[in-house]
Amino acid sequence: MKNVAYVYHPDYLLHIPPFEHPESPDRLIAINQHLESVGLLGTLVPVNPDYPDNGEILRVHDPDYLRKLELACRRGDLTLDSGDTYLNKNSYSIALLSAAGAIAGAEAVATGKADRAFCAVRPPGHHADRSEGMGFCLLNNAAITARYLQARHGVSKVMIIDWDVHHGNGTQSIFYEDPSVFFFSIHENPAFLYPGTGRRWETGKGAGVGTTLNAPMAPGAGDDEYRLAFEQLVAPAAERFRPEVLILSAGFDAHRDDPLADIQLTEEGFRFLSRFTIELANRFCGGKIVSLLEGGYERESLTRCTEIHIRELQKD
Ligand SMILES: [Zn+2]
Repeated sequence: MKNVAYVYHPDYLLHIPPFEHPESPDRLIAINQHLESVGLLGTLVPVNPDYPDNGEILRVHDPDYLRKLELACRRGDLTLDSGDTYLNKNSYSIALLSAAGAIAGAEAVATGKADRAFCAVRPPGHHADRSEGMGFCLLNNAAITARYLQARHGVSKVMIIDWDVHHGNGTQSIFYEDPSVFFFSIHENPAFLYPGTGRRWETGKGAGVGTTLNAPMAPGAGDDEYRLAFEQLVAPAAERFRPEVLILSAGFDAHRDDPLADIQLTEEGFRFLSRFTIELANRFCGGKIVSLLEGGYERESLTRCTEIHIRELQKD
């Protein structure tokens, strides 16, 4: 049995949509209630992040963007100027706290306080680029975590696996020319789904050629297609790259009940994805996984899949 850190902060509920929106505080309330009701919460190592200093964030994001975001929140803007991402007056500080949660999960794993970490953070991060928030994301939690591990814990090679149903365009862009971070994303085909990137031929640039890998899946694809993609693409990629730590962008919106896309994964599919990535981490990374919540908008499937994912993280 592995010690799994559960990162959460009650202030995550203070990033509140000013209008009806799928990415709402209810998601984390539902996850916490469910994990409590099935007796899982008490078996996890609780980790509460502190508000970070900007230094960790500035390894990834432009200072001009941070100033712009802070100002927009202070001014009371309801959305970012990119349009599809809401704000309230707390959003800047809660985005910092979300990134801090991911960092705290990485810290727990890197220092041995826990073997693995699940970070129940929001707002999510994988669409946020260096200088632009989009798609409900303000700061790129996965990218900030990768840079944190490299800068503070001497990790040289990080692999990010993103199974959120939407392409992790922000994470891809941040590391597109960087051979030290391997980015794999599996998502619904961008011809049909936001944000419209993540084609097979997007494989990196310059020194980063070969360390970006995209698996776009046809609408209607499910457990079998995902299993094949992980076996045929992710396993050989990890074998070649030899990561020292795995970061998961664990969205649960590829579930068949999720309203935002047309991928048909079941709970068993998510169990397989969890198991498969844990086994990769066992093989290459001494079992080290930092898993970050991204999307997932249908309460029942979100909470059940989170439970399944955490139970797999607890197994050897
Ligand atoms: Zn998503």
